Amino acid sequence: MTLVGRVVQLPEAVGQALEHLFGRRVDHVRIIEHSLFVRLHGRAVVTTRRRCIYLRSSAADFFDNPWLMLHEYWHVIGQWESRTLTVRNYLAECVRRGYWNNRFEVEARAFADAHVHQLRAMLSRQAAAVGPAGVLNSAPAASTAAGTGPALAVNPTAPRGGTGGQRS
Ligand SMILES: [Zn+2]
Repeated sequence: MTLVGRVVQLPEAVGQALEHLFGRRVDHVRIIEHSLFVRLHGRAVVTTRRRCIYLRSSAADFFDNPWLMLHEYWHVIGQWESRTLTVRNYLAECVRRGYWNNRFEVEARAFADAHVHQLRAMLSRQAAAVGPAGVLNSAPAASTAAGTGPALAVNPTAPRGGTGGQRS
């Protein structure tokens, strides 16, 4: 295992849903799983930098958590890319207001809260169009072209909770 971790391809269905919600491309954002770099950040499970999301655990867990994806992508797309978020600004905010109340976290939580239902709905619609074994029924060439790992197909268990309000 390296310090940085392993780069994982964003599943196409998830990427399409995120691009729809953000109104911007997200495919330039690298997702790195099992990253020791995250462990340099205390108890954090995810940390972001420009164009990068570093995960402490697996990317599969991340792709199964719409709220967390929205939160982290907002840090990258909405904050790092606009350069409102820099390491220096972030630390200054943390010193001033702590982790929970710093404006970058407040903003990212608000974005995730506002869009999580929509993202869940989009992902479960897409999952419904996917066969029981997680194999896409249509456009196999286009949908597999970008995938490299075996575990990156749409997760057939994604729409957990069904009618209930169960959250992740
Ligand atoms: Zn955050």
